[in-house]
Amino acid sequence: MTQLVWLRNDLRVEDNPALAAAYAGGEPVVAVYLVPVQTWQRHGVSPRKVDLIRRRLHHLCSELRQREVALRVIACDWFSDAGTVMLQLMRELGAQEVHANAELLLDEQRRDLKVARRLEGEGRRLVSHADGTLVRPGSVLTGAGDIYKVYTPFRRALLRKLLTDGVPAVTPSPRRGAANPHASSTIAEIDAAFAAVPQLSSQPWAASRSEIWQQLQHFADGPLHHYHQQRDLPAVAGTSQLSAAFTLGMLGMNETLDALLMRQPEPLALAEGGAASWLNELCWREFYRHLCALLPFLVMEKPFKPETARLPWRQGDDDFAAWCEGRTGFPIIDAAMIQLRDTGWMHNRLRMVVASFLTKHLLIDWRRGADFFMRHLIDGDFAANNGGWQWAASTGCDAAPYFRIFNPISQSERFDADGIFLRRQLPQLAALSNKAIHDPHGRAPLVAQRLGYPQPIVDLRLGRERALAAFSSLQEVGS
Ligand SMILES: Cc1cc2nc3c(=O)[nH]c(=O)nc-3n(C[C@H](O)[C@H](O)[C@H](O)COP(=O)(O)OP(=O)(O)OC[C@H]3O[C@@H](n4cnc5c(N)ncnc54)[C@H](O)[C@@H]3O)c2cc1C
Repeated sequence: MTQLVWLRNDLRVEDNPALAAAYAGGEPVVAVYLVPVQTWQRHGVSPRKVDLIRRRLHHLCSELRQREVALRVIACDWFSDAGTVMLQLMRELGAQEVHANAELLLDEQRRDLKVARRLEGEGRRLVSHADGTLVRPGSVLTGAGDIYKVYTPFRRALLRKLLTDGVPAVTPSPRRGAANPHASSTIAEIDAAFAAVPQLSSQPWAASRSEIWQQLQHFADGPLHHYHQQRDLPAVAGTSQLSAAFTLGMLGMNETLDALLMRQPEPLALAEGGAASWLNELCWREFYRHLCALLPFLVMEKPFKPETARLPWRQGDDDFAAWCEGRTGFPIIDAAMIQLRDTGWMHNRLRMVVASFLTKHLLIDWRRGADFFMRHLIDGDFAANNGGWQWAASTGCDAAPYFRIFNPISQSERFDADGIFLRRQLPQLAALSNKAIHDPHGRAPLVAQRLGYPQPIVDLRLGRERALAAFSSLQEVGS
């Protein structure tokens, strides 16, 4: 009998519960990855992310083959075709069970339920395994059994749980199995499955296990030690840049925590230093994932704070276009948006600044920004993106207070004081002084004009007052 494993956002051999379970019986294992062409096109999945998935599958194919696991990559039209494709494949291979790591979001859970029912109709089974979070969503609750609505006590409770229950064990990797009679997709067949989906080069992003693992090791041996001091500086490579690896499940959470604790056992108990600060970010990831799993209305793009659904968002199409294209006249915003366009990644500090600018100074709906991000990010992850946008827009769970509005000029002066990041992204401003570069039209208007740098699209004071008035109007209605 052949065992089947359905890979989704868990594109790895190591620390993969579904793959390990499929492998456990010693029978031939076939892994399958579906490319839902129409669904991806309709949802505008970022072309760089698509390219990274394709490249990752090339490597995964040979990493699996070393363990005698065959990988089939199959194009289908829609996400909802999964049941039909899976059933066909199971009949062809004579498989009775397909193992898959559970996904958190509502649509994915509904899809899996439908697939499970289709299979049951033929006496076959979809076997689900826990993955994607350090602990099961719903297992970190307040004393009263509620979900945490504030991050800090959630983190404390999560770390307490890890200390008392023990950190989750890394799932053992399959060793080389018995000879597999099934063929894998060839590289050409993998590329053909992706042919109809737009792609943009993701070449700078690691796609092989050895490169990704090295990236983690390099980070843990170096930048991790200064992470708490450098994580907010966009000019410095002070963060791990592993978000795409986490989003696509190229790295498992348990193996990552294990690698961190092997070097530094303290961060579970200590709140200071680089390792603790990095663990804090992994806890934010966990927080947003738990929220999305437990509050399905978030997946329907509703705000966490219901009253903020009444915010009088502006249409502001010209302003939105200027924001998307990096021509707002505020160098830190424009540099950040150009970084996103050119690489598919944006530094976390800048994600917060551009999101605050769009939702507060321009008073444009956070959902438009979140959608634009998902269409461009290499690490686009619904839970982290939704959490980050709702945090910045003050509509979310434990979000920034509505009156906290980042001033893009002072943020730029504070986190890129010497303009190193700005000069890298906006070489046309390179000759400006360190003082003028953060606010060219304010501090060097003639030069800014000569350089053809765009005029600011909003008066920061007026934009701030407009946002404060919009948010205060909600409180007046509520009171
Ligand atoms: C508006 C906005 C949108 C965002 N959209 C995404 C997204 O689509 N995908 C995504 O992975 N992250 C998103 N983030 C979170 C964060 O910006 C990125 O995870 C981080 O910049 C990735 O860089 P890194 O891997 O070097 O992170 P590091 O600083 O090395 O952090 C390690 C890991 O922790 C997680 N993490 C870090 N910060 C956060 C955070 N604030 N929230 C949740 N998880 C976090 C990521 O998995 C990250 O790889 C968003 C943040 C904001 C403010």
